[in-house]
Amino acid sequence: MKAVSILRPKQISPGLQATLRDSQKEAGRLWTDIVALHRRARAERRNWPSRSELQVATKGRYRLHSQTVQMICHQLLANVEATATRRQNDPRSREWLRFPHKEKRFFPLYWPAQAVSYDAASRRLVLPMGRGRKSLVFKLDLNFTPGSVKLVWNEGHELHIVRSDVAQTEETPGTERATIDLGEIHLGAVATSTGKALVVSGRGIRSHKRLLSKQLSEIARRRSRCKKGSRQSLKLQKARQKRSLLTSRRVRDLRHKATTRIIRFCAEAGVGEIFIGDPRGVRDKDVGRKQNGRMARWEMGTDMSYIAHKAKRLRMACFTGDERGTSSQCPQCDHRQKVRGRVWRCRSCSFEGARDVVGAVNMHPLAFEEAVMFPVEITYRRPGRMGGRGMNTPVLARSRALERRSRPDTGLREAERPLAPQLLETAPPPGGTRDRSQAPGNSAPLRSTGRRKTQPRAA
Ligand SMILES: [Zn+2]
Repeated sequence: MKAVSILRPKQISPGLQATLRDSQKEAGRLWTDIVALHRRARAERRNWPSRSELQVATKGRYRLHSQTVQMICHQLLANVEATATRRQNDPRSREWLRFPHKEKRFFPLYWPAQAVSYDAASRRLVLPMGRGRKSLVFKLDLNFTPGSVKLVWNEGHELHIVRSDVAQTEETPGTERATIDLGEIHLGAVATSTGKALVVSGRGIRSHKRLLSKQLSEIARRRSRCKKGSRQSLKLQKARQKRSLLTSRRVRDLRHKATTRIIRFCAEAGVGEIFIGDPRGVRDKDVGRKQNGRMARWEMGTDMSYIAHKAKRLRMACFTGDERGTSSQCPQCDHRQKVRGRVWRCRSCSFEGARDVVGAVNMHPLAFEEAVMFPVEITYRRPGRMGGRGMNTPVLARSRALERRSRPDTGLREAERPLAPQLLETAPPPGGTRDRSQAPGNSAPLRSTGRRKTQPRAA
């Protein structure tokens, strides 16, 4: 698995937009053609087309760069091979797992590293489209040399750029061991055999998700009052989509930051082996409507794969296994009890300790057959800054604000606001619409502060 940077280029001109759409359609035509070719060979029980046969069949027939064509052919062969292996190893999968057969209207575009060029001075990423055709040019700030590139549509164009600067290290950080207890409130609790522990909070992710569901219900409420298919209804549908994508990007970002924190902590402690407790047994139990929903939204599979990839990059061995109620067991006397509150207090012996790391500490004997001391030093971390501002502003105003990104009256971002306006905040007394009319003078910055303060009430 390679490290990939996902970038969404802003300000794509209508001309470029049309070209991208057209090229992805052309790639779709290519995919449909080679899939048909492969399907025919399967139906007639001939030898399946090889890489060179596909190359001959597709040469010069598509308005794409020759290496883009090659990579799409290669993608088909990779899919075929993966399907064949799975069907062979798991005979039951033959009932539902089919070889590539779908016609595609659009398909992502690929460029290998040697076809991609980036000019740091003009900040231009150039992706060739073949002889006689204009290359695609994107203005981007990259702080690394781009490897291969994939152009994907995900409700807007995205560039997936392989990072050439992130490579596997030569040696493992050490021989220590670590266990990771995944959770929802705490995204991960790590206990190492060095006696140190780390807890990374998952609250930011949860609050982003909660905010999303609140705002979606607000949109749904407004939409229920619209005529079906009306302009307002479509507008709200767009807002809904935009809002969901924003949250998924924010959550993904926080997940990456959190898992990177965990791995960095392990590396600094000289860890060479990581055990991740698999809480998936928990999912099958029926624990009531509310808790069931919470469990369904908890994406522990993503966390596990992020940690595994990042561990592999540092040459740490990473494996998983059942965690079997490790967090309800006393790390000293194995007494089992229900957990309440932040501190784990044993009713059978004198043990007392932070609840969050009990699970991780108990995994050590399970995974490595060696118990560890209960950590004295526990570090608590958030995955990253809570993004977003004006979290309570009405949905539509918020999506418009996102388009602008900077405040129209100052031209500055909220985070970079100078200290001076703070003086004005003391001028109007707190709360109420009255103080807006009372506010002395009509200076622009003051008016804007007043408007911003009253905005949440407009909802
Ligand atoms: Zn005990």
